Amino acid sequence: MKYLDEYRNDRVARNVIDEISRLVTQPWVIMEVCGGQTHSIVKYGLDYLLPEAIELVHGPGCPVCVTPLEMIDRAHAIARRADVIFCSFGDMLRVPGSNGDLFQLKAEGANIRIVYSPLECLKIARAAPDKKVVFFAVGFETTAPANAMAVWQAKAQGVRNFSILVSHVVVPPSLTSILQSPANRVQGFLGPGHVCAVMGWREYEAIAARYRVPIVVTGFEPVDLLEGVMMLVRQLEQGRAEVENQYARAVSREGNEEAQRMIANVFDVCDRSWRGIGIIPKSGYRLRYEFREHDADRIFQVADIRTAEPAICISGQVLKGIKKPNECPAFGTQCTPQTPLGATMVSAEGACAAYYNYGRHLISLGASPARG
Ligand code: SF4
Repeated sequence: MKYLDEYRNDRVARNVIDEISRLVTQPWVIMEVCGGQTHSIVKYGLDYLLPEAIELVHGPGCPVCVTPLEMIDRAHAIARRADVIFCSFGDMLRVPGSNGDLFQLKAEGANIRIVYSPLECLKIARAAPDKKVVFFAVGFETTAPANAMAVWQAKAQGVRNFSILVSHVVVPPSLTSILQSPANRVQGFLGPGHVCAVMGWREYEAIAARYRVPIVVTGFEPVDLLEGVMMLVRQLEQGRAEVENQYARAVSREGNEEAQRMIANVFDVCDRSWRGIGIIPKSGYRLRYEFREHDADRIFQVADIRTAEPAICISGQVLKGIKKPNECPAFGTQCTPQTPLGATMVSAEGACAAYYNYGRHLISLGASPARG
């Protein structure tokens, strides 16, 4: 297939579903790792079209969702300063901290700018030498290369008033954490297509072998996702646990080695806290020591912030595939995209937000209106 609409073709999708129905002989629980994949699955109702034996659960791959509340509050503390121009991608501006969001701070007079690339911040920094320009570096391995490049250029060009507030997370340790959980139900993963476009899939081979779990690197269109499920079901039914690549038009085993080198030049691996999950060892990036002059955490030394998730929120279980959003008592009532209580409702790619935005708060629990 060559064109995008072919990956949304009804007839092709139906053929793949028929093949899955032919293959499946027993129940399987499959997790899609990426928030973008969750969004497509819920938008197109793919989980309702699959045979009942296939259960899709939703993974931790929404970077905005898993950014800890403490980090949002830290960003707000920096953005409030009169000597700071605080830059961010637009999706972080609506994410609430303990006391409102960045849009509110902007309305109150804070100098907050939406940018489309961290490299824009270097221009802003050069044009405003009396200000400290800070970029909120959030995301998985997909956004890390551009953020690394911005820091690299800032150091090389002597742009000393530019720094980044790093909240990067990496995917493979989160899968390990899910598989090690005593409550784990996941038997196969639809691997993160965009992350693997950068990192390749070599890291996933060790996970597949160690935990005897098949992983299929998968794209984001409906036919991509259904093909990914089909490839997983084939492996599961045959008792295989390998890494396969459905997303061959974008991903190679090696990934983008230039981008990986840039990440390794600028970042070290560190432990990171994931909102709703907690600390996962070696699951994040931090700036290497030689780039400390561009490390907003070090420059601004914001005092330790402690926050707690609302007791009613089960987003940690949603992010690990243990529960579904509509099993949460607050879903669609106390908790909506306008009044998010937890990690998975704060971004449109979060599972709770996807369920809400595509009307699943209107469907009673367990109903399956369009099972194929
Ligand atoms: S619906 Fe809201 S409160 Fe419930 S799990 Fe999702 S984010 Fe948490």
